[in-house]
Amino acid sequence: MRFITTVFCLISFISIGHAQVEIVSPPQEDPRIYNIIEEVSAEHIQADIETLVNFGTRHTLSDTVSSTRGIGAARRWIKSRFDDISKDCNGCLEVKYHRGLATAEGNRRIPEDTWIVNVMAIKRGTKYPNKYIIMSGDIDSRISDPLNATDDSPGANDNATGMAGVIEAARVLSKYDFPTSIIFLGLSGEEQGLFGGKFLAKDAKAEGWEILGVINNDMIGNIKGIDGVIDNTTFRVFSEPAPADQNEKDLIWNRFYGGEVDGPSRQLARYIHGMTSKYMTNLKAVMIYRLDRFGRGGHHRPFNDEGFPGVRIMETHENYVMQHQDIRTEDGIAYGDVIEGVNFDYAAKLTAVNAICLAGIAWAPAAPDFVMIGGAVRPSTRLKWDPIADDSNLLGYKVYWRDTTSPVWQYHRFIGKETDVTLENIIIDNYLFGVSSVAKDGNESTVVYPKTLIPRR
Ligand SMILES: [Zn+2]
Repeated sequence: MRFITTVFCLISFISIGHAQVEIVSPPQEDPRIYNIIEEVSAEHIQADIETLVNFGTRHTLSDTVSSTRGIGAARRWIKSRFDDISKDCNGCLEVKYHRGLATAEGNRRIPEDTWIVNVMAIKRGTKYPNKYIIMSGDIDSRISDPLNATDDSPGANDNATGMAGVIEAARVLSKYDFPTSIIFLGLSGEEQGLFGGKFLAKDAKAEGWEILGVINNDMIGNIKGIDGVIDNTTFRVFSEPAPADQNEKDLIWNRFYGGEVDGPSRQLARYIHGMTSKYMTNLKAVMIYRLDRFGRGGHHRPFNDEGFPGVRIMETHENYVMQHQDIRTEDGIAYGDVIEGVNFDYAAKLTAVNAICLAGIAWAPAAPDFVMIGGAVRPSTRLKWDPIADDSNLLGYKVYWRDTTSPVWQYHRFIGKETDVTLENIIIDNYLFGVSSVAKDGNESTVVYPKTLIPRR
């Protein structure tokens, strides 16, 4: 029989088998998260967007030699920004370029072989150096003709906002230390075919990086939609329901035990939704249950293609007049992705969302592994997983469940360091379940959905 008593406000006892184990509940919030939100500066973001726009064009095929115009100048400046931030934290960032060659052959938007150069800054984790949580934005821009590499292409919203957000998040988070590594990433070649992401995702997979998630930011500064709506209180999080590379066994599992909408990218989206609701109460994350906009792409996808979790963050109301357009006025309508279309406060808010999710995940213990579930034809649900070994930061685990129709986790229970729990009178048929790891400071990993049955004796 299960027996729970609350003693004081934070300590309770849970009966596991016959022994009673003392459980200290995690803190409800981490005050450092509020500090991070306040430290993100709209002025810095504005200044960085202005600089990026002033490179004239950042088209992937543009000049790489000039120090004032073209993508070469832009990426050297981005690297110098990361270098400066690193200088201010005693060299706490590993700043480097990452390259891949996009060949003309087989690529419509690459007329001649072109080096695609990404820029990254790694804040190396103190405990899990090979586990990465990534924030990305894009360096490159385009106008009406995707091959026009010479005319002005400010790409103020698409995607200087995402890039400036990455730089600002790096500045803010460089002041903290984390057990897990964080990568601040500027990707190139997005508009020519997601090349920067493809090359990096492939290399990351080949080198065995453990990527916990990619939070890709693409257009985080427009609040005046083509639909006439002006909205600075919501943003969208796009995520694929389950990995695209699911095998037949996964599909069978989904069919009989659930999991069609519980892949790791979707759990990352729920994490972002949860952190926003908890810490930024005047902002709402609108989860969109699809990979990306209808038929369109973004730089999280190549990571998904390699089996890594990744989502896209962006404004809720796009304005196509200010996207991928030659700068011109036609029938009284001003076209072009110019800086006047960017709301810097909104870009700062969405940057803060990124920063707190990066920090939350990087401060959390590793997520539970080998989560198993059982409970058919019983009045209870049982979950079991492998203990996180050797992490003094681990306070315990939290079990989550929700109605099968609910997009977000609705119920949870912190159960301490046990790794085998039975939820009495919670009927397995009626809910979906998951488990997270919780740190002593209250920060949590993303939720892991069970993918194995507890063997019946
Ligand atoms: Zn674009």
